[in-house]
Amino acid sequence: MNDCLFCSIANGEKTNLVWHNDVAAAFNDIHPKSPVHVLIVPKRHVVNLDDLDDPELAADMIMAIRTVADQLGVTGAYRLQVNNGKAAGQIVGHLHFHLRAGESKSPIDSL
Ligand code: 5GP
Ligand code: ZN
Repeated sequence: MNDCLFCSIANGEKTNLVWHNDVAAAFNDIHPKSPVHVLIVPKRHVVNLDDLDDPELAADMIMAIRTVADQLGVTGAYRLQVNNGKAAGQIVGHLHFHLRAGESKSPIDSL
């Protein structure tokens, strides 16, 4: 086991997980910025999208996002964000999709 935080969470205690399957896991962000703020990650260590070279895993991640959204009841009403690389604000060096929902108005509307 490496010392990656999200490898540990994704492959650790299932009680910490909102959802998981063989290849992906979802858990609540520790500092939620929306009423629903879940992180969806591959169980395998992948640094970011630049490091994602397996098309099957890429497809699995998109399907995982859709499944988590459905389970949370936010299908058709969520936003996704990937901070890809330190220069873009990526703090944790394990690929994660921020799935956020539950706000009356998207912050994107005010950009
Ligand atoms: P980034 O800026 O890398 O895209 O976002 C990392 C996210 O991981 C942040 O939203 C932060 O709140 C979340 N985070 C950091 N440490 C932990 C942790 O130990 N547990 C959980 N559940 N989330 C974390
Ligand atoms: Zn990792």
